[in-house]
Formats: sequence, structure tokens, C-alpha cells
Amino acid sequence: MSQPPTPGSPVLPVPPKIVKRLSGIVGETHVITDPDRLLVYESDGLTAYRVTPRAVVLPASTDEVARVVEILHAEGIEVVPRGAGTGLSGGALATENGVVVGMARMNRILEIDPENRLARLQPGVVNAHLTEATRPHGLYYAPDPSSQSTCTLGGNVAENSGGPHCLKYGVTSRYVTGLTVVLAGGRVVQLGGAGGARHASLDLVGLFVGSEGCFGIATEIEVRLLPLAQGVRTLLGIFETMEDAGRAVTAIMASGLMPAAIEIVDQATIRALEASVFAAGYPVDAGAALVVEFDGTEAGLDADADRAEKCCLAEGAREVQRATEPEHRAALWTARKKAFGAMGRIAPDLLVQDATVPRTKLPEVLVRIAQIGESYDIKIANVFHAGDGNLHPNLLFDRQNASELERVEHASKEIMKLCVEVGGTITGEHGVGIDKRDYMPLVHNETELEMLRSVKELFDPDGLFNPGKVLPSRAAPGSESPAGMTS
Ligand SMILES: Cc1cc2nc3c(=O)[nH]c(=O)nc-3n(C[C@H](O)[C@H](O)[C@H](O)COP(=O)(O)OP(=O)(O)OC[C@H]3O[C@@H](n4cnc5c(N)ncnc54)[C@H](O)[C@@H]3O)c2cc1C
Repeated sequence: MSQPPTPGSPVLPVPPKIVKRLSGIVGETHVITDPDRLLVYESDGLTAYRVTPRAVVLPASTDEVARVVEILHAEGIEVVPRGAGTGLSGGALATENGVVVGMARMNRILEIDPENRLARLQPGVVNAHLTEATRPHGLYYAPDPSSQSTCTLGGNVAENSGGPHCLKYGVTSRYVTGLTVVLAGGRVVQLGGAGGARHASLDLVGLFVGSEGCFGIATEIEVRLLPLAQGVRTLLGIFETMEDAGRAVTAIMASGLMPAAIEIVDQATIRALEASVFAAGYPVDAGAALVVEFDGTEAGLDADADRAEKCCLAEGAREVQRATEPEHRAALWTARKKAFGAMGRIAPDLLVQDATVPRTKLPEVLVRIAQIGESYDIKIANVFHAGDGNLHPNLLFDRQNASELERVEHASKEIMKLCVEVGGTITGEHGVGIDKRDYMPLVHNETELEMLRSVKELFDPDGLFNPGKVLPSRAAPGSESPAGMTS
């Protein structure tokens, strides 16, 4: 981990004449320079890193974003886009020369088009609010990050976010059909649109999705909606060990079933949850629990649930419960989605790791992650999207304890190497940001990294959008690994 500067006042305040010009565009109250108010923006969900921005600007329209970016870039000031700040890889972390441009005021759903199953919205719309607004039309927005009650569509686009139900339905990139983007210097472009009908050549929308705030700012987003499922069946498989639960995941998928979601929670997580306000009846003596869900047309759902139950029992589940009441199902999901919050009961700080491995490797990898935790004397709790092989080992620590922070860093790096070794990769959905930047050479050689840098340079030739994220610095001539690579 890089050493963040001391939190507090920005290192380089924005000159008053620039503040005045920015205020002229967005209004004085929407330019934040007071150090106390800036503290809110000093980190995102990756709380081990903290940098106070030089200022925060909160525009309300594409035109305002474009004019703000034009002024800042003309002054050589870096721009860090920010949604709700729930990112877990440090993507929205300010840079020392940076001004944060926040999307909180751009939170309007502009159009719902039920006939074409599309919605057009501003980037600050909260993920769950979109489904609430489209439900009366019998439609919903499928990607459902566990943070969906808070995170924004702009952040989802930038991170190409997933969620429990992305096992069946796919991640954000599958749903974004058009974007309005403010590029470097304040230029505005329209990419795609109207359900993809306006595509003429290369998929520039696809290129932008997952760009982690490094290419520009999405100021309008068009997404595809899906019809609400007719029926749903939710199972809770209870296991003595994580290994058994991991094998059951493979068995369910290998049997040809297509669940909407398969999530694992381990014992440490269950105990934290059940002691919290999110308690939902997960048995605290279980080694692990699987939440398995099927949805779609009613016909066939019971048969699918029966087959999944058999797979769980064959792999050693001691019991498989059915959440037949909507309230029970909702409680199981709320608990699952609030698990990271409940872990505050175990330790004051949490590093949520995110990596993907082939599903068949889950049992082996889970055992090895537990060993890594023991060898560094770090508590690790697991709660993750098992059906996708998308692991979230949660490393619990106290950042006031310098030695523990250092051990977390080592353990985290070993987990990343392990996941790559078994054929996986360094992120499933939380992005690279600053946290995984130095792990990029584990999965890309220098030629590939150079290609990625060239793509960024096309969008952002002067490197003024979210610099220092995602891409490690170029390797020193004659050296194998990029600067900053510490493994
Ligand atoms: C409890 C919890 C559970 C989570 N569960 C999941 C999960 O299940 N699946 C998942 O994928 N993630 C999950 N996350 C991570 C996080 O919520 C997602 O990455 C989310 O998409 C971030 O959205 P945000 O609005 O908070 O973005 P921020 O954190 O503010 O920003 C994230 C990145 O997007 C960029 N950005 C933001 N807005 C824009 C814009 N308009 N244009 C260009 N770039 C922009 C930022 O610069 C930054 O790089 C979870 C986080 C928490 C805290």
C-alpha cells in the first residue's frame, strides 16, 4: 500500500480565482473548500487510503460538468470523478493535485421507455432507485451490487459492477447501451444510444464501461431493463465446512442448473451478522451457508430447487431450508448484502478483497486463504458470489496498528498471487483502482500494459483524469517490472 499523506487540509488549495470561476458555474454552495467538509471526501470504501482533495465541485448538468472540466484541465488540475464513494479499490480517492467532481446532484431518472425496455438517467442515480422507479412498469435493472441501496449508476458504469444475481444476468456492461461523456478539456461526446441502435462502428460504450474514472465523466447513461421474474425460489444450504459448501457450488453448476445467484457466507460472517440488526436466522454453529436462488417462469422452478437441494445434501449439507415467505427471503438477502457492515463488530477496519478463480478451484483456494490468514495472524471472513467464483476474502484489522496493517498488505498480496496461480484474476467486480494497480503485472505483460496505456491516452492525452489509478507506471528501461511493482 502506498503511504497516504496526513489527512486534514489539502496539500495545495485551489487558487481563489479558480474557486470563483467554478462557483460561477455551479453556485458557491456547490464548491467545497472548507477542510472540515473536505474530510467527507478523503477516502472511499477502501479506508486504509486517505487523501484530502484540493476541492470538491458538485455540478448539476452535462453542461456544468463540461465547463468545470474545461477550467480545471486548462489549469493542469487533475479531476477525480466520484459517485457515492462506496468503491472498494480506491477509485474515487482524491489525488494530491486533484479536484473531486461529485455526481450527487445529478440524480434524476430522465426517461423510462417501457416499450423499448430502456431507461435514461443521470449518473448520480442510486442503483436501487432505478428498480424502484421501473417496477410499476413490470421492469427492473438487473445488476445488483450488494451496495445497491447507496452506490450510483455512474460508479457502476465506471467499475463495470456485478452483484449476486449477475451469475445468471451478467454484469453492468451487458446493460449499458448509451453514454454521454465529458472528455478531457470539457469536450462532450455521445456514445451509442437508443438500445444500441445508434452503434455504427467500434463499441466505444463497451470501451468506456469499466474505465474507472480514468477516461472521462459519464454524465448521462442509457440502460436496458428486464421484465420482472414471474417466480422465485430461495434455498439456504447449511454446511459444516467451507470446503463442503464450495463443492456444492461446483455440483450445482455442473448439474446443468442455472441459478440466478449462489452466495457463500462463512462462520465468522454468520456470527457477525446474527449479532447485528441484520440477523436473519443463519445458524451460528454452521461452518458455512449457501444462498441459492432460482427465478423465471413458475413452471420448473420447484424442480430446479429440488435438484439444487440434492446437490447440497450430496456434498455434505446438514440441512437445506426454503425461504417460502417473501419476508424470510428479503431478510436473508438483506443480511447477505449488509455483511460487510456487520463486520464492524469484529474489527474497526476491513479490507474487502476481490478476485476471481475458476469455480472448481473454490474448495482448494478457500483452504489456502485460511492458511494465509493464519500465517499472518490476520482474521479473514468470507462472503462472496460463489457461483461466479468471485471471492471476497475480508481482511479484518485495526489501521492504528501499523504492524497489523503491514501484515494485511502481505496477506492480501499472497491471496492475489494464489488466485492468479490457479487460473483466476485480480478483480471480479471492484476494479483495480489504487489497491490492485501494482498487481496488474501479475496478469498483464508490459506489451499489454502499454496497449492499455495507449487506450487511456486516446481519451485523456494529458493524463488529467484520475491519474495513478489502474495502470502502474512504465517500467524503467532495462527493467522487467513496472515502477511501483513491489511483489
Ligand atoms: C457494502 C458494499 C458492498 C459492495 N458490493 C458490491 C457488489 O456486490 N458488486 C460490485 O461490483 N461492487 C460492490 N461494491 C463496490 C462498489 O459499491 C461499486 O464499485 C460501485 O459501483 C461504486 O459506485 P459508487 O457510486 O459508490 O462509485 P465511487 O466509489 O464514487 O466511484 C467508483 C469509481 O467510479 C468512478 N466514477 C464514479 N462516477 C463516475 C462517472 N459518472 N463517470 C466516470 N467515472 C465515475 C470513480 O472515479 C471511481 O473510479 C460494494 C461496496 C460496498 C461498500
